[in-house]
Amino acid sequence: MAIILDGKAVAAKVKGEVKERVDLLKKEGKRIPALAVILVGEDPASAVYVRNKKKDCEEVGFLSIGHTLPAQTTQEELIALIDKLNADDTVDGILCQLPVPKHIDAGAVLERIAPDKDVDCFHPVSAGKLFRGTPSLLPCTPAGVIRILDEYSIDIAGKNCVVVGRSNIVGKPAAMMLLDRNGTVTVCHSKTKDLAKVTKSADILVSAVGRADFINGDMIKEGAVVVDVGMNRNAEGKLCGDCDYASCYEKASYITPVPGGVGPMTRAMLMENTMTAYGIHEKL
Ligand code: NDP
Repeated sequence: MAIILDGKAVAAKVKGEVKERVDLLKKEGKRIPALAVILVGEDPASAVYVRNKKKDCEEVGFLSIGHTLPAQTTQEELIALIDKLNADDTVDGILCQLPVPKHIDAGAVLERIAPDKDVDCFHPVSAGKLFRGTPSLLPCTPAGVIRILDEYSIDIAGKNCVVVGRSNIVGKPAAMMLLDRNGTVTVCHSKTKDLAKVTKSADILVSAVGRADFINGDMIKEGAVVVDVGMNRNAEGKLCGDCDYASCYEKASYITPVPGGVGPMTRAMLMENTMTAYGIHEKL
């Protein structure tokens, strides 16, 4: 039976630490960190994510700047807004909620965000710095994975770390960050042969696939640490991860639940990233 890695509790701690720093800034009469969130169109899931980000900003005391643009906004108009926010010294973080409507090139938009305000860490400069081992801002989900391991004093150095998924948003940066912490990292993807053999070798397994019940207890080693990044809906429409929780829970030493694991950590790390960006801007 595993120990549950309580993402909700750790996220509350991370946000509490950020809030303490903001409270101090307020007391000292200093500028307050600000996060600008752009939403283009009316995707309902995106609207929920944006609302949550606003709520988190309010909770830690940041200034939250919302830009909700109609679906027919042109790429030029969106880029003009990003340019304006880039040039605004009172804005620390800029985030454009994905997906953007099909007529807009998401890559071009993300590359327009100034790297020092790139709190999602999707800019090639941010990715390059991570690759080089000298990041300033960190991709929120992988950073949340590392933080939760740290909070439970789970050592990464020398461990066999298997990451399932190689997206630019989760899998690849998670692998980089585990490598940076001296894990021995294997990355799996849809062309991996005998996946179960690889996942069974993992001391630390990070799953970021996007398929319910994809990893079951037979695919993990006794005592493995299981970090489930997946956010899926099962047949009953209930939110679940990639891992079959019941069978993995029995065999793992630690496991993140879904919901209440990596999800809240991602949100908290966005707040921490914005605080870091503020520190860069204010030369703290
Ligand atoms: P992507 O769809 O971009 O990537 C999925 C990855 O899974 C790909 O690399 C793909 O391989 C791999 N994959 C697909 N099928 C298999 C298979 N049969 N065997 C092995 N690997 C496979 O997804 P994301 O990385 O964006 O997200 C992954 C999951 O994490 C989703 O459920 C998403 O909702 C969730 N998520 C959760 C967050 C959180 O805060 N908790 C934040 C971000 C994402 P290939 O490259 O070969 O196609």
